This record gives sequence, structure tokens and C-alpha cells, in this order.
Amino acid sequence: MKAIVVHAARDLRIEDHDMPQAGPGQVLVRMAAGGICGSDLHYYQHGGFGSVRLREPMILGHEVAGHITATGPGVDALSEGQLVAISPSRPCHDCRFCHAGTPQHCLNMRFYGSAMPYPHIQGAFREYIVADAAQCVPADGLSAAEAAMAEPLAVCLHAAKQAGDLMGKRVLVTGCGPIGQLCVLVARAAGAVEVVATDIAAFTLATARSAGASRVINMAETQDGLADYHADKGHFDVHFECSGAAPALVAAIPALRPGAILIQLGLGGDMTLPVQAMTAKEISFRGSFRFHPEFRTAVAMMQGGQIDVTPLVTHSYPLAEAGAAFEMAADRSQAIKAHIVF
Ligand SMILES: [Zn+2]
Ligand SMILES: [Zn+2]
Repeated sequence: MKAIVVHAARDLRIEDHDMPQAGPGQVLVRMAAGGICGSDLHYYQHGGFGSVRLREPMILGHEVAGHITATGPGVDALSEGQLVAISPSRPCHDCRFCHAGTPQHCLNMRFYGSAMPYPHIQGAFREYIVADAAQCVPADGLSAAEAAMAEPLAVCLHAAKQAGDLMGKRVLVTGCGPIGQLCVLVARAAGAVEVVATDIAAFTLATARSAGASRVINMAETQDGLADYHADKGHFDVHFECSGAAPALVAAIPALRPGAILIQLGLGGDMTLPVQAMTAKEISFRGSFRFHPEFRTAVAMMQGGQIDVTPLVTHSYPLAEAGAAFEMAADRSQAIKAHIVF
């Protein structure tokens, strides 16, 4: 079976790997769809991000869905042929953070396609994968492409949980890549009355508008795009920062009202923050990283029709054209989420 393996920056190979077999409590899944994430792109373009570097070849991918082709002993709740969204989050359930109910901080996390630990945790861009039954969420009624969006949607649901109640709130989303788009959808579904989205690409902003943003602002075209929201000490109650770019965060601070909550999702390297202004406005800065229970919620919200992710999957490529898929995924002038079809 074939797998997409990154060896170094710009060195992506399609390689043959041994066919895995499902053990007790496990299932064998024939992969159907896999979404290319920002982290996959960082490994492909730069060989890592921040202090995380590739030190050995690694199979990429963690946003996946497929059909069960075999079940191991003791698996009753899943059946052959079923479409499942596979959660890449594999905490140990036995460290102090797992016991404290924060498995996203697990000391022994084995998140697919991650070069944080060494040996690296191999990813899920492969024709077949063996997964624990507990990772697999039945995705009846969804397409494989939708099911593969459960992971980034779960990231945004986790971020929304950090923000607290969004009912009636005025929300700012900076950065309209896939995570920003999903934050727009989640904020709307959670009752936000106003969602303003910013980016520097016209294409992503148009998509954000159709995803439900009340207004979109192209920060590349204007010096002070958020000036309308500066009066009376600022306007927005909650800010989802999805760009990871310092200028986006800095420009947003004057538009946040005192006591606003800033949720940082974007990971673009370290940034200098306007701490003085944030302190004087008593802005709460909260990081948001991965998810765990939100994965099931993400599948359920798509099945229930509360969130429609289909317009966000703008491209899909066969496995053999993985290189082209990665190039497209990085092109914000025409792509939101690029998928690989296995
Ligand atoms: Zn992802
Ligand atoms: Zn743990």
C-alpha cells in the first residue's frame, strides 16, 4: 500500500509500505479522503515549524476519513463498509493531564503526523491504516470529504469552548484559511450576532462572506481596516486569531472592547504582542491547541446540519498527484482546503 512520506523540505515521496493488520480492539480502514493541514504544509515547505524539525522520514496527514474493511477481535460497534472519521488524537489516558481532563496536553500524545516527539508519530496519508476502534467515529450521512473535515472543525470547537458563551457576542476572526472559515461557521452556530473576518486574500474573504461573516475586510487594501471599530474603547467581545501573523493581532487590539477574550489559534512562529494596550484593556489572551472530545461533536454537528463544511473543500487530487495537492493547498488565491483522494 502507498503512503505520502516527507523526507525533508520539498522532498515528498509516494512510497510502498507494508499492509497493516487490525489487532484486538482495532479496525483496518481503507482511506478515502485526507485534508492537507497547515502543519503538513510546514513540514513540506520548511521541514518543520518553530523548534519542531523533521529528523526522520514521516508519513504526513491527520485529517482523514475512510471505510472500514476489517475489524479486529472485540470490535462490535463498528462494521465493515462503514464510513468513519478517524480522530488523530491519541492521548495515553493515564498521565496527569489526561486524568485532569485535558488530554490535548497528554505527556504521551501520539497525534498523527507529528515530528514533536522522536521517533516521530507517523501520519495517516496512506491507503490503509489500523486505528483503535475508539478513534473511529461513524460518519453515516456524510461524504468522506465532510468526514475528513471533522479534525479542523474540532480544533475550532475547542477554541470556541475556550471563548465561553458566544450567544449574542460580536466576534472578530483574523485569518481566513480553513481554521478561520470554520471559526466563522462555529461562531454563527453558537449564536454570535456579528462576525467580522479579515484576511489579505480576496478569495478567502469571499468564501468567509458566504460562510456567514457579516462583513469581510481586506487588510492588504487598507491602512486601517478595523478603524470603524475603534470608537468607545473597541467593539468586539471575542477575537479568534487564526493567521498566526503579528500584524493581524496588533491591528485587532484597538478594535477589541475592554475585557475581550482573544483566542490564539494561529501558529506562525513567535510574535511581539502589544502587551501595554492588552493589559490596560484587561484583554484575556487564551491559547487553543488541538482538541479531544470535540471530535465527536464535530461529526455530530455536520450530521445534524448545524455546520456545512462542503464549500470549504475547494480542491481534491488523487494520491498520485500529492505534490500538486500540496502546492494548491498553499495557494490562498484559490484554495481553502485541498484534499487527497486515496
Ligand atoms: Zn489539521
Ligand atoms: Zn496522557
